[in-house]
Amino acid sequence: MVQPYKHEPFTDFSVESNQADYLKGLETVKSYLGQDYDLLIDGERISTKEKIVSNNPANKEEVIGRVSKADQALAEKAMQSAVNAFQSWRKVKPETRADVLFKAAAIIRRRKHEFSALMTKEAGKPWNEADADTAEAIDFLEYYARQMLAIKDGVPVNSRPNEYNRYDYIPLGVGVIISPWNFPFAIMAGTTVAAIVAGNTVLLKPASTTPIVAAKFVEVLEEAGLPKGVLNFVPGSGAEVGDYLVDHKDTRFISFTGSRDVGLRINERASKLNDGQIWIKRVIAEMGGKDTIVVDKDADLELAAQSIVASAFGFSGQKCSACSRAVIVEEVYDQVLARAVEIAKEKKAGNPEDRSNFTGPVIDQSAFNKIMSYIEIGKEEGKLMLGGEGDDSKGYFIQPTIFADLDPQARIMQEEIFGPVVGFTKAKDFNHAIEIANNTEYGLTGAVLTNNREHIQQAREDFHVGNLYFNRGCTGAIVGYQPFGGFNMSGTDSKAGGPDYIMLHMQAKTTSEMY
Ligand code: GLU
Repeated sequence: MVQPYKHEPFTDFSVESNQADYLKGLETVKSYLGQDYDLLIDGERISTKEKIVSNNPANKEEVIGRVSKADQALAEKAMQSAVNAFQSWRKVKPETRADVLFKAAAIIRRRKHEFSALMTKEAGKPWNEADADTAEAIDFLEYYARQMLAIKDGVPVNSRPNEYNRYDYIPLGVGVIISPWNFPFAIMAGTTVAAIVAGNTVLLKPASTTPIVAAKFVEVLEEAGLPKGVLNFVPGSGAEVGDYLVDHKDTRFISFTGSRDVGLRINERASKLNDGQIWIKRVIAEMGGKDTIVVDKDADLELAAQSIVASAFGFSGQKCSACSRAVIVEEVYDQVLARAVEIAKEKKAGNPEDRSNFTGPVIDQSAFNKIMSYIEIGKEEGKLMLGGEGDDSKGYFIQPTIFADLDPQARIMQEEIFGPVVGFTKAKDFNHAIEIANNTEYGLTGAVLTNNREHIQQAREDFHVGNLYFNRGCTGAIVGYQPFGGFNMSGTDSKAGGPDYIMLHMQAKTTSEMY
Protein backbone atom coordinates (compact mmCIF):
# COMPACT_ATOMS: atom_id res chain seq x y z
CA MET A 1 0.00 0.00 0.00
CA VAL A 2 1.34 3.41 -0.92
CA GLN A 3 1.31 5.71 2.08
CA PRO A 4 -0.68 8.94 1.77
CA TYR A 5 1.37 11.86 0.46
CA LYS A 6 2.92 14.25 2.95
CA HIS A 7 5.41 16.93 2.02
CA GLU A 8 9.06 16.50 2.90
CA PRO A 9 9.85 18.43 6.10
CA PHE A 10 12.40 21.25 6.02
CA THR A 11 15.62 20.81 7.95
CA ASP A 12 15.98 22.74 11.18
CA PHE A 13 19.51 24.06 10.89
CA SER A 14 19.55 25.38 14.43
CA VAL A 15 20.06 21.71 15.41
CA GLU A 16 23.79 21.02 15.48
CA SER A 17 23.62 17.52 14.02
CA ASN A 18 21.73 18.93 11.02
CA GLN A 19 24.44 21.52 10.53
CA ALA A 20 27.01 18.75 10.62
CA ASP A 21 25.05 16.73 8.05
CA TYR A 22 24.88 19.69 5.71
CA LEU A 23 28.63 20.34 6.07
CA LYS A 24 29.26 16.68 5.30
CA GLY A 25 27.18 17.17 2.15
CA LEU A 26 29.36 20.13 1.26
CA GLU A 27 32.47 17.96 1.69
CA THR A 28 31.00 15.34 -0.64
CA VAL A 29 30.33 18.03 -3.25
CA LYS A 30 33.87 19.39 -2.88
CA SER A 31 35.22 15.90 -3.57
CA TYR A 32 33.76 15.96 -7.08
CA LEU A 33 34.13 19.61 -8.03
CA GLY A 34 35.45 20.24 -11.51
CA GLN A 35 34.51 16.86 -12.98
CA ASP A 36 33.18 16.25 -16.49
CA TYR A 37 29.66 15.00 -17.22
CA ASP A 38 28.40 13.36 -20.40
CA LEU A 39 25.25 13.56 -22.43
CA LEU A 40 22.95 10.58 -22.04
CA ILE A 41 21.31 9.37 -25.23
CA ASP A 42 19.56 6.01 -25.44
CA GLY A 43 21.40 4.89 -22.32
CA GLU A 44 24.74 5.73 -23.86
CA ARG A 45 27.07 8.30 -22.33
CA ILE A 46 28.46 10.64 -24.95
CA SER A 47 31.25 13.07 -24.36
CA THR A 48 31.69 16.10 -26.63
CA LYS A 49 34.70 18.31 -27.09
CA GLU A 50 32.78 21.46 -26.46
CA LYS A 51 31.61 21.85 -22.86
CA ILE A 52 29.32 24.03 -20.81
CA VAL A 53 31.30 25.16 -17.79
CA SER A 54 29.38 25.66 -14.57
CA ASN A 55 30.83 28.15 -12.09
CA ASN A 56 30.05 29.06 -8.53
CA PRO A 57 28.23 32.43 -8.63
CA ALA A 58 29.61 33.29 -5.18
CA ASN A 59 33.15 32.54 -6.27
CA LYS A 60 33.51 32.85 -10.03
CA GLU A 61 36.88 31.15 -10.14
CA GLU A 62 35.50 27.90 -8.79
CA VAL A 63 34.40 25.43 -11.44
CA ILE A 64 31.58 23.17 -10.28
CA GLY A 65 31.85 20.93 -13.30
CA ARG A 66 31.78 20.76 -17.06
CA VAL A 67 29.04 19.11 -19.07
CA SER A 68 29.18 17.97 -22.64
CA LYS A 69 27.24 20.15 -25.03
CA ALA A 70 24.84 18.70 -27.58
CA ASP A 71 24.76 19.99 -31.13
CA GLN A 72 21.94 19.46 -33.61
CA ALA A 73 23.20 16.05 -34.75
CA LEU A 74 23.24 14.80 -31.17
CA ALA A 75 19.87 16.39 -30.50
CA GLU A 76 18.51 14.46 -33.48
CA LYS A 77 20.01 11.24 -32.15
CA ALA A 78 18.39 11.93 -28.78
CA MET A 79 15.07 12.58 -30.49
CA GLN A 80 15.20 9.24 -32.30
CA SER A 81 16.05 7.55 -29.02
CA ALA A 82 13.02 9.14 -27.34
CA VAL A 83 10.75 8.29 -30.27
CA ASN A 84 11.79 4.62 -30.10
CA ALA A 85 11.65 4.35 -26.33
CA PHE A 86 8.13 5.78 -26.34
CA GLN A 87 6.82 2.65 -28.04
CA SER A 88 7.75 0.51 -25.05
CA TRP A 89 7.57 3.01 -22.19
CA ARG A 90 3.97 3.96 -22.94
CA LYS A 91 3.03 0.31 -22.31
CA VAL A 92 4.97 -0.08 -19.07
CA LYS A 93 2.47 -0.37 -16.23
CA PRO A 94 1.79 2.92 -14.41
CA GLU A 95 2.70 1.18 -11.15
CA THR A 96 6.15 0.36 -12.51
CA ARG A 97 6.63 3.90 -13.79
CA ALA A 98 5.58 5.25 -10.39
CA ASP A 99 8.02 2.90 -8.66
CA VAL A 100 10.93 4.52 -10.48
CA LEU A 101 9.88 7.86 -8.98
CA PHE A 102 9.41 6.42 -5.50
CA LYS A 103 12.84 4.85 -5.60
CA ALA A 104 14.43 8.04 -6.92
CA ALA A 105 12.81 9.96 -4.03
CA ALA A 106 14.32 7.48 -1.56
CA ILE A 107 17.78 7.83 -3.09
CA ILE A 108 17.59 11.61 -2.97
CA ARG A 109 16.33 11.58 0.60
CA ARG A 110 19.45 9.66 1.58
CA ARG A 111 21.64 12.18 -0.22
CA LYS A 112 19.55 15.19 0.68
CA HIS A 113 22.25 17.46 2.08
CA GLU A 114 24.63 16.62 -0.72
CA PHE A 115 22.08 17.84 -3.26
CA SER A 116 21.38 20.96 -1.21
CA ALA A 117 25.09 21.70 -0.84
CA LEU A 118 25.52 21.22 -4.57
CA MET A 119 22.92 23.93 -5.12
CA THR A 120 24.68 26.19 -2.66
CA LYS A 121 27.78 25.81 -4.82
CA GLU A 122 26.20 25.81 -8.26
CA ALA A 123 23.31 28.25 -7.84
CA GLY A 124 24.39 30.26 -4.80
CA LYS A 125 21.49 29.04 -2.69
CA PRO A 126 21.68 29.72 1.03
CA TRP A 127 21.23 26.59 3.17
CA ASN A 128 17.53 26.92 3.89
CA GLU A 129 16.70 27.82 0.29
CA ALA A 130 18.70 24.87 -1.01
CA ASP A 131 17.09 22.58 1.55
CA ALA A 132 13.64 23.70 0.41
CA ASP A 133 14.59 23.10 -3.21
CA THR A 134 15.69 19.52 -2.47
CA ALA A 135 12.58 18.91 -0.38
CA GLU A 136 10.45 20.13 -3.28
CA ALA A 137 12.22 17.82 -5.72
CA ILE A 138 11.39 14.89 -3.42
CA ASP A 139 7.81 16.13 -3.15
CA PHE A 140 7.36 16.25 -6.91
CA LEU A 141 8.56 12.66 -7.22
CA GLU A 142 6.32 11.43 -4.42
CA TYR A 143 3.32 13.45 -5.51
CA TYR A 144 3.31 12.84 -9.25
CA ALA A 145 3.87 9.11 -8.73
CA ARG A 146 0.72 9.02 -6.60
CA GLN A 147 -1.20 11.14 -9.09
CA MET A 148 -0.37 8.61 -11.78
CA LEU A 149 -1.59 5.78 -9.56
CA ALA A 150 -4.80 7.70 -8.91
CA ILE A 151 -5.70 7.87 -12.62
CA LYS A 152 -4.18 4.60 -13.80
CA ASP A 153 -7.59 2.98 -14.30
CA GLY A 154 -9.08 6.05 -15.93
CA VAL A 155 -11.79 8.36 -14.73
CA PRO A 156 -15.36 7.01 -14.33
CA VAL A 157 -17.94 7.80 -17.02
CA ASN A 158 -21.47 6.46 -17.48
CA SER A 159 -22.38 3.31 -19.39
CA ARG A 160 -25.83 2.24 -20.57
CA PRO A 161 -27.01 -1.41 -20.33
CA ASN A 162 -24.85 -3.71 -22.50
CA GLU A 163 -22.33 -0.96 -22.96
CA TYR A 164 -18.88 -0.60 -21.38
CA ASN A 165 -17.47 2.90 -21.57
CA ARG A 166 -14.04 3.93 -20.38
CA TYR A 167 -12.24 7.22 -20.17
CA ASP A 168 -8.48 6.70 -19.93
CA TYR A 169 -5.57 9.10 -19.89
CA ILE A 170 -2.82 8.06 -22.26
CA PRO A 171 0.57 9.69 -22.79
CA LEU A 172 1.26 12.21 -25.54
CA GLY A 173 4.66 11.16 -26.92
CA VAL A 174 8.03 12.87 -26.83
CA GLY A 175 8.38 15.93 -24.63
CA VAL A 176 11.11 18.55 -24.56
CA ILE A 177 11.84 19.77 -21.04
CA ILE A 178 13.57 23.14 -20.80
CA SER A 179 14.24 23.83 -17.16
CA PRO A 180 15.33 26.92 -15.21
CA TRP A 181 18.33 27.65 -12.99
CA ASN A 182 16.44 29.22 -10.10
CA PHE A 183 14.98 25.93 -8.91
CA PRO A 184 17.70 23.88 -10.52
CA PHE A 185 16.63 20.71 -8.77
CA ALA A 186 12.93 20.97 -7.93
CA ILE A 187 11.58 22.40 -11.17
CA MET A 188 14.06 20.52 -13.35
CA ALA A 189 13.11 17.23 -11.67
CA GLY A 190 9.40 18.01 -11.34
CA THR A 191 8.85 18.92 -14.97
CA THR A 192 10.88 15.90 -16.09
CA VAL A 193 9.19 13.27 -13.95
CA ALA A 194 5.66 14.57 -14.46
CA ALA A 195 6.16 13.87 -18.15
CA ILE A 196 7.87 10.52 -17.60
CA VAL A 197 5.49 9.02 -15.06
CA ALA A 198 2.64 9.82 -17.43
CA GLY A 199 4.26 7.49 -19.98
CA ASN A 200 6.04 10.00 -22.18
CA THR A 201 9.70 10.00 -23.10
CA VAL A 202 11.73 13.17 -22.83
CA LEU A 203 14.70 15.23 -23.83
CA LEU A 204 15.96 17.27 -20.91
CA LYS A 205 17.77 20.50 -21.68
CA PRO A 206 18.72 22.02 -18.32
CA ALA A 207 19.66 25.65 -17.76
CA SER A 208 23.25 26.25 -18.81
CA THR A 209 24.13 27.88 -15.48
CA THR A 210 23.09 24.84 -13.41
CA PRO A 211 23.66 21.68 -15.46
CA ILE A 212 25.53 19.69 -12.79
CA VAL A 213 22.62 19.20 -10.44
CA ALA A 214 20.65 18.00 -13.48
CA ALA A 215 23.41 15.57 -14.45
CA LYS A 216 23.37 14.17 -10.91
CA PHE A 217 19.60 13.77 -11.05
CA VAL A 218 19.87 11.87 -14.33
CA GLU A 219 22.22 9.45 -12.55
CA VAL A 220 19.65 9.00 -9.79
CA LEU A 221 16.91 8.11 -12.27
CA GLU A 222 19.20 5.56 -13.91
CA GLU A 223 19.95 4.06 -10.51
CA ALA A 224 16.22 3.97 -9.81
CA GLY A 225 15.73 1.77 -12.86
CA LEU A 226 14.53 4.11 -15.58
CA PRO A 227 14.93 2.24 -18.90
CA LYS A 228 17.27 3.66 -21.51
CA GLY A 229 15.90 6.19 -23.96
CA VAL A 230 13.09 7.36 -21.66
CA LEU A 231 15.17 10.30 -20.45
CA ASN A 232 17.76 11.76 -22.78
CA PHE A 233 20.05 14.40 -21.33
CA VAL A 234 20.98 17.07 -23.85
CA PRO A 235 22.46 20.24 -22.38
CA GLY A 236 23.10 22.79 -25.09
CA SER A 237 22.51 26.29 -26.28
CA GLY A 238 18.94 27.51 -26.60
CA ALA A 239 19.53 28.96 -30.04
CA GLU A 240 21.06 25.77 -31.39
CA VAL A 241 19.56 22.80 -29.57
CA GLY A 242 16.53 24.40 -27.90
CA ASP A 243 15.08 25.78 -31.11
CA TYR A 244 15.89 22.61 -33.01
CA LEU A 245 13.97 20.47 -30.56
CA VAL A 246 11.07 22.88 -30.18
CA ASP A 247 10.68 22.95 -33.98
CA HIS A 248 11.09 19.21 -34.45
CA LYS A 249 8.18 17.40 -36.10
CA ASP A 250 8.38 14.56 -33.57
CA THR A 251 8.11 16.84 -30.55
CA ARG A 252 4.64 16.38 -29.11
CA PHE A 253 4.89 18.83 -26.21
CA ILE A 254 7.25 21.31 -24.62
CA SER A 255 7.46 21.93 -20.91
CA PHE A 256 9.25 25.17 -20.27
CA THR A 257 10.02 27.21 -17.17
CA GLY A 258 11.83 30.51 -17.57
CA SER A 259 11.38 34.06 -18.71
CA ARG A 260 8.35 35.57 -20.38
CA ASP A 261 10.24 36.41 -23.55
CA VAL A 262 11.68 32.93 -24.05
CA GLY A 263 8.31 31.38 -23.19
CA LEU A 264 6.53 33.48 -25.81
CA ARG A 265 9.18 32.64 -28.35
CA ILE A 266 8.80 28.92 -27.70
CA ASN A 267 5.04 29.21 -27.89
CA GLU A 268 5.27 30.97 -31.23
CA ARG A 269 7.72 28.48 -32.72
CA ALA A 270 5.74 25.53 -31.40
CA SER A 271 2.60 26.79 -33.12
CA LYS A 272 4.19 26.45 -36.54
CA LEU A 273 3.44 23.22 -38.36
CA ASN A 274 6.56 21.53 -39.69
CA ASP A 275 6.90 19.00 -42.50
CA GLY A 276 5.67 15.58 -41.43
CA GLN A 277 4.14 16.86 -38.20
CA ILE A 278 0.66 15.45 -37.52
CA TRP A 279 -0.39 17.17 -34.29
CA ILE A 280 -0.70 20.54 -32.65
CA LYS A 281 2.13 20.77 -30.15
CA ARG A 282 1.22 21.45 -26.60
CA VAL A 283 3.14 24.03 -24.60
CA ILE A 284 3.21 24.03 -20.83
CA ALA A 285 4.94 27.23 -19.78
CA GLU A 286 5.73 28.73 -16.39
CA MET A 287 6.93 32.25 -16.98
CA GLY A 288 7.57 35.40 -15.02
CA GLY A 289 5.91 37.33 -12.28
CA LYS A 290 5.67 40.80 -10.83
CA ASP A 291 4.28 39.83 -7.50
CA THR A 292 2.68 42.12 -4.98
CA ILE A 293 2.20 42.07 -1.25
CA VAL A 294 -0.69 44.29 -0.20
CA VAL A 295 -0.79 45.60 3.36
CA ASP A 296 -4.12 46.80 4.69
CA LYS A 297 -4.45 49.33 7.50
CA ASP A 298 -5.99 46.66 9.68
CA ALA A 299 -3.07 44.22 9.59
CA ASP A 300 -0.32 42.79 11.73
CA LEU A 301 2.34 45.26 10.61
CA GLU A 302 5.30 43.33 11.99
CA LEU A 303 4.16 40.23 10.11
CA ALA A 304 3.70 42.40 7.03
CA ALA A 305 7.25 43.77 7.13
CA GLN A 306 8.71 40.33 7.83
CA SER A 307 6.72 38.79 4.97
CA ILE A 308 7.81 41.46 2.49
CA VAL A 309 11.48 41.08 3.38
CA ALA A 310 11.43 37.27 3.30
CA SER A 311 9.55 37.16 0.00
CA ALA A 312 11.60 39.89 -1.64
CA PHE A 313 15.09 38.76 -0.67
CA GLY A 314 14.87 34.98 -0.22
CA PHE A 315 17.29 33.54 -2.80
CA SER A 316 18.09 37.14 -3.75
CA GLY A 317 14.62 37.63 -5.20
CA GLN A 318 15.36 35.18 -7.99
CA LYS A 319 11.99 33.47 -7.89
CA CYS A 320 9.09 34.17 -10.17
CA SER A 321 7.06 34.16 -6.98
CA ALA A 322 9.25 36.81 -5.30
CA CYS A 323 7.68 39.95 -3.90
CA SER A 324 8.92 42.82 -6.02
CA ARG A 325 6.10 45.24 -5.18
CA ALA A 326 4.81 46.24 -1.77
CA VAL A 327 1.55 48.15 -1.96
CA ILE A 328 0.71 49.67 1.40
CA VAL A 329 -2.42 51.51 2.43
CA GLU A 330 -1.44 55.07 3.30
CA GLU A 331 -2.30 55.04 7.03
CA VAL A 332 0.38 52.40 7.68
CA TYR A 333 2.79 53.06 4.80
CA ASP A 334 5.56 54.84 6.72
CA GLN A 335 5.52 52.33 9.53
CA VAL A 336 5.72 49.21 7.33
CA LEU A 337 8.38 50.75 5.11
CA ALA A 338 10.56 51.77 8.04
CA ARG A 339 10.29 48.35 9.66
CA ALA A 340 11.02 46.51 6.38
CA VAL A 341 14.16 48.60 5.92
CA GLU A 342 15.23 47.82 9.45
CA ILE A 343 14.78 44.07 9.00
CA ALA A 344 16.38 43.97 5.55
CA LYS A 345 19.46 45.80 6.86
CA GLU A 346 20.34 42.58 8.65
CA LYS A 347 20.14 40.50 5.48
CA LYS A 348 23.42 41.49 3.85
CA ALA A 349 24.54 39.53 0.83
CA GLY A 350 27.46 37.17 1.32
CA ASN A 351 28.78 33.70 0.54
CA PRO A 352 25.89 31.26 1.04
CA GLU A 353 28.22 28.54 2.30
CA ASP A 354 28.26 30.57 5.49
CA ARG A 355 24.93 29.78 7.15
CA SER A 356 24.60 33.25 8.64
CA ASN A 357 24.20 34.84 5.20
CA PHE A 358 20.53 35.20 4.37
CA THR A 359 21.20 36.60 0.90
CA GLY A 360 23.59 34.92 -1.54
CA PRO A 361 24.80 36.05 -4.96
CA VAL A 362 22.76 36.42 -8.13
CA ILE A 363 23.28 33.80 -10.76
CA ASP A 364 25.71 35.30 -13.29
CA GLN A 365 27.24 38.38 -14.84
CA SER A 366 24.35 39.19 -17.11
CA ALA A 367 21.87 38.92 -14.21
CA PHE A 368 24.16 41.14 -12.15
CA ASN A 369 24.36 43.75 -14.91
CA LYS A 370 20.64 43.70 -15.54
CA ILE A 371 19.72 44.08 -11.87
CA MET A 372 22.28 46.86 -11.37
CA SER A 373 20.86 48.74 -14.32
CA TYR A 374 17.37 48.45 -12.80
CA ILE A 375 18.79 49.85 -9.57
CA GLU A 376 19.92 52.91 -11.55
CA ILE A 377 16.41 53.23 -12.99
CA GLY A 378 15.00 52.89 -9.47
CA LYS A 379 17.15 55.77 -8.26
CA GLU A 380 15.51 57.98 -10.88
CA GLU A 381 12.01 56.74 -10.28
CA GLY A 382 11.88 56.49 -6.50
CA LYS A 383 13.71 57.00 -3.26
CA LEU A 384 16.51 54.56 -2.44
CA MET A 385 15.94 53.45 1.16
CA LEU A 386 18.40 50.57 1.41
CA GLY A 387 21.07 48.77 -0.56
CA GLY A 388 21.68 49.75 -4.15
CA GLU A 389 25.25 48.46 -4.16
CA GLY A 390 26.69 45.54 -6.00
CA ASP A 391 30.10 43.91 -6.07
CA ASP A 392 31.04 41.49 -8.81
CA SER A 393 34.74 41.24 -8.05
CA LYS A 394 34.60 37.73 -6.57
CA GLY A 395 30.99 36.69 -7.00
CA TYR A 396 27.82 38.42 -8.14
CA PHE A 397 26.66 40.06 -4.94
CA ILE A 398 23.93 42.67 -4.78
CA GLN A 399 22.73 44.06 -1.47
CA PRO A 400 19.01 43.84 -0.66
CA THR A 401 17.56 46.99 -2.17
CA ILE A 402 14.40 48.87 -1.25
CA PHE A 403 12.91 51.76 -3.20
CA ALA A 404 10.09 53.87 -1.80
CA ASP A 405 7.44 56.23 -3.11
CA LEU A 406 7.20 54.73 -6.56
CA ASP A 407 4.48 55.46 -9.04
CA PRO A 408 2.52 52.21 -9.70
CA GLN A 409 3.39 52.60 -13.37
CA ALA A 410 7.12 53.03 -12.76
CA ARG A 411 9.35 50.52 -14.53
CA ILE A 412 10.52 49.20 -11.17
CA MET A 413 6.87 48.39 -10.45
CA GLN A 414 6.09 46.89 -13.84
CA GLU A 415 9.09 44.96 -15.17
CA GLU A 416 10.44 41.72 -13.83
CA ILE A 417 13.88 42.39 -12.33
CA PHE A 418 14.55 38.92 -10.89
CA GLY A 419 16.87 40.18 -8.20
CA PRO A 420 16.90 41.51 -4.64
CA VAL A 421 14.93 44.67 -5.38
CA VAL A 422 11.53 45.63 -4.02
CA GLY A 423 9.52 48.78 -4.70
CA PHE A 424 7.06 50.35 -2.28
CA THR A 425 4.04 52.34 -3.32
CA LYS A 426 1.29 54.02 -1.34
CA ALA A 427 -2.40 53.23 -1.91
CA LYS A 428 -5.29 55.51 -0.91
CA ASP A 429 -7.32 52.62 0.45
CA PHE A 430 -7.78 48.86 0.09
CA ASN A 431 -9.70 49.12 -3.23
CA HIS A 432 -6.90 51.20 -4.65
CA ALA A 433 -4.32 48.71 -3.38
CA ILE A 434 -6.03 45.82 -5.20
CA GLU A 435 -6.30 47.95 -8.31
CA ILE A 436 -2.55 48.61 -8.22
CA ALA A 437 -1.80 44.95 -7.48
CA ASN A 438 -3.65 43.97 -10.66
CA ASN A 439 -2.02 46.53 -12.90
CA THR A 440 0.69 44.29 -14.37
CA GLU A 441 0.60 41.91 -17.29
CA TYR A 442 1.58 39.05 -14.98
CA GLY A 443 -0.57 37.14 -12.52
CA LEU A 444 1.53 34.69 -10.60
CA THR A 445 1.55 35.20 -6.84
CA GLY A 446 0.32 37.79 -4.41
CA ALA A 447 -0.30 38.19 -0.72
CA VAL A 448 -2.63 40.29 1.36
CA LEU A 449 -1.93 41.16 4.96
CA THR A 450 -5.18 42.07 6.63
CA ASN A 451 -7.42 41.19 9.53
CA ASN A 452 -10.47 42.45 7.71
CA ARG A 453 -12.58 39.45 6.69
CA GLU A 454 -14.44 41.40 3.99
CA HIS A 455 -11.18 42.45 2.45
CA ILE A 456 -10.01 38.85 2.39
CA GLN A 457 -13.16 37.95 0.50
CA GLN A 458 -12.76 40.89 -1.86
CA ALA A 459 -9.16 39.90 -2.65
CA ARG A 460 -10.18 36.28 -3.21
CA GLU A 461 -12.51 37.50 -5.93
CA ASP A 462 -10.58 40.38 -7.42
CA PHE A 463 -6.84 39.91 -6.94
CA HIS A 464 -6.09 38.06 -10.17
CA VAL A 465 -3.16 35.75 -9.48
CA GLY A 466 -2.71 32.00 -9.61
CA ASN A 467 -1.39 31.79 -6.05
CA LEU A 468 -2.93 34.18 -3.55
CA TYR A 469 -1.83 34.06 0.07
CA PHE A 470 -3.29 35.71 3.16
CA ASN A 471 -1.32 36.83 6.19
CA ARG A 472 1.97 35.34 4.99
CA GLY A 473 4.54 35.93 2.25
CA CYS A 474 4.06 35.11 -1.41
CA THR A 475 6.82 32.54 -1.98
CA GLY A 476 7.26 28.94 -0.93
CA ALA A 477 4.34 27.03 -2.45
CA ILE A 478 4.32 23.41 -1.31
CA VAL A 479 3.70 20.57 -3.75
CA GLY A 480 0.26 19.05 -3.21
CA TYR A 481 -0.73 21.80 -0.78
CA GLN A 482 -0.48 25.00 -2.80
CA PRO A 483 -0.34 24.00 -6.48
CA PHE A 484 1.76 26.62 -8.22
CA GLY A 485 1.29 28.58 -11.43
CA GLY A 486 -0.04 31.87 -12.66
CA PHE A 487 -2.35 33.71 -15.02
CA ASN A 488 -1.82 36.01 -17.98
CA MET A 489 1.83 36.51 -18.94
CA SER A 490 2.92 34.22 -16.10
CA GLY A 491 2.31 31.16 -18.24
CA THR A 492 -0.20 28.70 -19.57
CA ASP A 493 -2.26 28.58 -16.37
CA SER A 494 -0.87 25.19 -15.36
CA LYS A 495 -0.39 24.30 -11.72
CA ALA A 496 2.81 22.45 -10.86
CA GLY A 497 2.30 20.17 -7.88
CA GLY A 498 -1.45 20.17 -8.47
CA PRO A 499 -3.98 17.38 -8.97
CA ASP A 500 -4.38 17.99 -12.70
CA TYR A 501 -0.74 18.66 -13.58
CA ILE A 502 0.25 15.28 -14.98
CA MET A 503 -2.90 15.24 -17.11
CA LEU A 504 -1.44 18.18 -19.01
CA HIS A 505 1.10 15.66 -20.29
CA MET A 506 -1.60 13.25 -21.39
CA GLN A 507 -4.67 13.00 -23.58
CA ALA A 508 -7.97 11.37 -22.75
CA LYS A 509 -9.14 8.41 -24.79
CA THR A 510 -12.76 7.29 -24.81
CA THR A 511 -13.49 3.65 -25.55
CA SER A 512 -16.97 2.16 -25.83
CA GLU A 513 -17.71 -1.53 -26.20
CA MET A 514 -21.11 -3.12 -26.82
CA TYR A 515 -21.82 -6.48 -25.18
N1 GLU B 1 7.31 27.55 -6.48
C1 GLU B 1 8.18 28.60 -6.02
C2 GLU B 1 7.55 29.36 -4.92
O1 GLU B 1 6.39 29.16 -4.62
C3 GLU B 1 8.59 29.54 -7.11
C4 GLU B 1 8.97 28.89 -8.39
C5 GLU B 1 9.72 29.80 -9.32
O2 GLU B 1 10.22 30.85 -8.95
O3 GLU B 1 9.83 29.41 -10.48
O4 GLU B 1 8.19 30.19 -4.34
